[in-house]
Amino acid sequence: MESFYNQKTFDFVCIATKNENFTKMELKYCKGDYKKEFLEYLAEIFETDPKYSDKCMATQYILKNQIMIINDINSVNFPNKKLLKQIIDNNFHSALFIPIYKNGKIDAGIGLCVKYKNYFNKVCLSIFKEIKEDIEYAIKKIEDYTLLDLLKEAIDKTYSWILITDENANILYANKSVEEISGYKAEELLGKNPRIFKSGFHSIRYFKIMWDKLTSNIPVETVIINRKKDGNLFYLKDKIIPVFSHEGKKYYISLGEDITKEKILEEKLKEDFLTKLPNRNEFIYKILNSIDKKETYAFIIIDLKDFKIFNQINGIEQGDYILRKFAEFLKTFFHTEDIIARIGADEFAVFIKYKSLDEILSIIKNFNTKIKTLEEFQNKIAVNIGIALYPNDDTDIVKLLDKAYLALELAKEKGEFTYEFFSSQINEQILKYTQTKNLLKTALKNKEFIYYFQPYVDSKNFKIVGAETLIRIKHNNKIIYPNSFIDYAENSGFIKTIEKQMFPKFLEYLQQINIPLSFNISGKSLTDEEHIKNLFKKIHNLPINIELTEREIAGDIEYTKKIFNYFKNKKFRLSIDDFGTGYSSFSYLKDLPADYLKIDISFVRNIENSKKDYAIVETIIDFAHKFNMKTIAEGVENINQLKLLQNAECDYIQGFYFYKPMPFNEFKSLL
Ligand code: C2E
Ligand code: CA
Ligand code: CA
Repeated sequence: MESFYNQKTFDFVCIATKNENFTKMELKYCKGDYKKEFLEYLAEIFETDPKYSDKCMATQYILKNQIMIINDINSVNFPNKKLLKQIIDNNFHSALFIPIYKNGKIDAGIGLCVKYKNYFNKVCLSIFKEIKEDIEYAIKKIEDYTLLDLLKEAIDKTYSWILITDENANILYANKSVEEISGYKAEELLGKNPRIFKSGFHSIRYFKIMWDKLTSNIPVETVIINRKKDGNLFYLKDKIIPVFSHEGKKYYISLGEDITKEKILEEKLKEDFLTKLPNRNEFIYKILNSIDKKETYAFIIIDLKDFKIFNQINGIEQGDYILRKFAEFLKTFFHTEDIIARIGADEFAVFIKYKSLDEILSIIKNFNTKIKTLEEFQNKIAVNIGIALYPNDDTDIVKLLDKAYLALELAKEKGEFTYEFFSSQINEQILKYTQTKNLLKTALKNKEFIYYFQPYVDSKNFKIVGAETLIRIKHNNKIIYPNSFIDYAENSGFIKTIEKQMFPKFLEYLQQINIPLSFNISGKSLTDEEHIKNLFKKIHNLPINIELTEREIAGDIEYTKKIFNYFKNKKFRLSIDDFGTGYSSFSYLKDLPADYLKIDISFVRNIENSKKDYAIVETIIDFAHKFNMKTIAEGVENINQLKLLQNAECDYIQGFYFYKPMPFNEFKSLL
């Protein structure tokens, strides 16, 4: 003890560390009073290879991670005699060796020699033990800190976006890149949810799929469109990894890369090649980037009706030509600040600012008229339009697009040049249409269409003069009336197929009776000359009465005249149905060789109470007689109506007062 404190310095101090390959120890530092050769031998004692353990005492201690103390060189049985000689030559008597461990393995060693015996006692052993532990602890700390510092530095300096959240998606860390890309300072982000970057581009479904994976500890790779603090958008190629800490806490690490520039370039390339209009993604991107939340906008989707068929008939080249022309037309029709895009093969979309619904309505009317009348589109294409309104219907642009699509779907069901606004009942409406579509399909397939017969009588003697065939569907022994399917059948074009199926039946019935039968022809069929000619091919000179509604014939007078003459040549009779409900233009009647005018049920219904309606009925009848036409009053339900019509000299009466529509068997026995 005494000698330890009195001694000013050790006679020899050395430090050895592991060599680069970690195979053995190398002397790094030697100081003191020693002979040169001593070092060579000393090196040997630092060999940690167990194969030296019987040759070297130090190795034995190193392997056991114990401090070695020798207090009298002569008293130990030194296995390495050469080394022993060196030690004695240098006159060292006491020696101490401290192995320094790191991560459970020898990392360095400190050796001390003194020229006295019994220099190191028990007390100093405990001091050196403490020193050993301190050094080991310090080395570990130093290394940990340097590693952490380096990592932190690296994370901060990297160009990649690194964001860490806790399990509840509260932001715990955001690196410099996040600050630079998003424009938010890290302090503004800490504790917030990454929703702060939400752009509105992605659907709820998108996030649901993402979170389903993350909560099941599956990493997610995605390209997400986010919004910066200044409102601009950026594309982030993001990998989100769920990780667990030692204590089992869950974190999410988002490793991202700003790929906005690349994406914009890509989108440019993806711009619709044919029409040079933005595509769907670009369209939404543009809207999100330019929308002013204080304004009102209309999201309009325009669909070219049956464009596939147009392509099939006219060829792809002609189809492409029309699409290009259509795109050009859109650009001239709408304003430059409106966003126009081609969002599907035959679907275009426009995003326009508007002030009032009337404004949109007049735009759409105008638009439809242009398509109907411009030479390049006339009779070539027809459109349907679906509209959803911002912010009324939704403030989420993607959802708004979906809603405009729903509106479009409904419009498509309603025929050509129809438009629909999104409404909250739209799903039910569409459902109704699909149900009707299915009803018609099964009815056609299973031949469920049948005719009911409603006789009409002479107004003077009440004798049956003829009967009108009225269609029904007989499904599971239930009778379905035309009010639930006829509009749809006419607008969808199903009516032609129905007529093809039913006209032969009509002829069969006609042969079994001896009065004229009326056949209702839809306006939609009437305009298809080929269909009409096919339907009535080879039919001549039969007591058939063709009923056409007034609305339909008032459209294209020249064409209607042609069709009228076609029927006249076949010696059919012609009735103008629902007279008074259409344009009621008497003028065209003088050019159309009709045989009957059917006075619409709405006049008959009011005839008792309204002098005006009675006057109209009188006028119609007078007028008809002047042009050699006879009149049939529809929907006569009581004797008062009958008397008034008799007074007005109506020729024939149809209505429940005499007969309700009935199945053929009943009708036949009645006759
Ligand atoms: P519509 O051609 O005007 O047929 C007359 C409708 O008035 C029939 O209805 C008939 O049942 C009903 N009716 C007759 N007398 C009375 C009455 O006294 N009171 C009342 N309240 N109603 C009366 P239905 O059979 O339901 O047919 C409705 C419409 O469906 C028809 O109107 C017609 O536009 C269409 N339709 C019926 N069958 C066919 C068809 O085979 N082809 C085409 N294209 N349309 C058809
Ligand atoms: Ca009719
Ligand atoms: Ca009618």
